[in-house]
Amino acid sequence: MMKTRWPEAYKVIETLENAGFEAYVVGGAVRDFLRNVNANDVDVTTNATPNEVKQLFPHTIDVGIEHGTVLVVLKETIEVTTFRSEATYSDFRRPDAVTFVRTLQEDLQRRDFTMNAMALSKTDELIDYFGGREDIKRNIVRAVGDPTKRFSEDALRMLRAIRFSAQLNYSLHADTLQAIQSLHHLIAHVSMERVKVELEKIWISNYVANGMELFVSSQLAANFRGDWKTYCPSWESFSSFGKTANGWAFFALMQQPTEVAAYLSYYKCSNAEKAHVNHILAAVQQLEKGYWSPYNFFQFDEDVLIAAASFAKQLRNMEATYTVEQIQQTKAALPITSVKEVVVNGNDLMEWTQKKRGPWIREVFEKITLEIVNGTLMNDRKWIKEWFFREYVNERKDTFPTN
Ligand code: ATP
Ligand code: MG
Repeated sequence: MMKTRWPEAYKVIETLENAGFEAYVVGGAVRDFLRNVNANDVDVTTNATPNEVKQLFPHTIDVGIEHGTVLVVLKETIEVTTFRSEATYSDFRRPDAVTFVRTLQEDLQRRDFTMNAMALSKTDELIDYFGGREDIKRNIVRAVGDPTKRFSEDALRMLRAIRFSAQLNYSLHADTLQAIQSLHHLIAHVSMERVKVELEKIWISNYVANGMELFVSSQLAANFRGDWKTYCPSWESFSSFGKTANGWAFFALMQQPTEVAAYLSYYKCSNAEKAHVNHILAAVQQLEKGYWSPYNFFQFDEDVLIAAASFAKQLRNMEATYTVEQIQQTKAALPITSVKEVVVNGNDLMEWTQKKRGPWIREVFEKITLEIVNGTLMNDRKWIKEWFFREYVNERKDTFPTN
């Protein structure tokens, strides 16, 4: 029963019904309920307007009144959206205006796929005008209504179809697939931010290879920069390790190195994502030269090393690289895990030499760190000072960096 399954959504619906409105759980939660899996979040749809919803609950948050959405805050936060349709689309990517409609059916009709276009009443009565339950039984992603029309309204739906197929291991209904194949070029109108979200959902899904195969074979991929095709079969052995940025690293390893930076910007990757990808590329490059030095194990984070070892194997045909255990053990055996652990600092170096601050400090400090990581110098002030005087002050007076 909904009362025990989704108690907060149940309370929202009950309150709305007691005030004379209709309300239902809709979308992903209904789909996941029929699939017997836990839903991510439970959304409610109602014929009450946002202002009417706000009057019924003491604590609400406005997130998109103009789209009809209010968050109702109980023990959990439930998204409540007024029955609406998406009036006219003139740019293939978003409705020009949202229109509130009177019936549940009109609301369900504007939704993307049959499996996402069902509603459930608080007594668990399923409202399914488009055969969603049957499509779930047959593992099919099918557009609601005429796919050509629906993909022309919002081209992102084509990529969402593929994303759901990758998440659920469903196949695309023939008409839906055909419409994507003939309208693929419309995806170019969709904002990169929305495209990126869907690609990343494919990468952390259970059937990545299916999704990426469809992305390429449907021709959607051809509308974007980079080579998605040549190494597409390699996604078969891809693991995201739960991190979406690893998908961008895997993609980057399939490209000409000189193009990578431009592609990451084009796909609107954040600076943190770019840094993660670049670390993985650097680690793979080291591996191609032979092996990882203690300093490599020190400089790269564990998640970078794990992804790099795995991707090098798959995309650089390396027979054996490091296992996760080897990476963890090698990292654990390092004398220090961070530069912060080095027991001397720049001030010490200046004091010992009476030399002014300058780039030399960084150089020397890096050398000290390297020696410590390599196990050739103890991380101990006395030893470091002695080493420093021997290496730089006495022996190499001539080469000692000056300001
Ligand atoms: P997830 O578990 O990934 O959140 P979801 O089905 O909840 O899956 P959302 O993107 O959160 O997916 O969207 C919620 C609902 O809104 C969908 O189930 C669908 O009914 C509708 N929807 C979302 N995006 C679109 C779209 N572009 N066109 C039509 N309907 C959409
Ligand atoms: Mg959702």
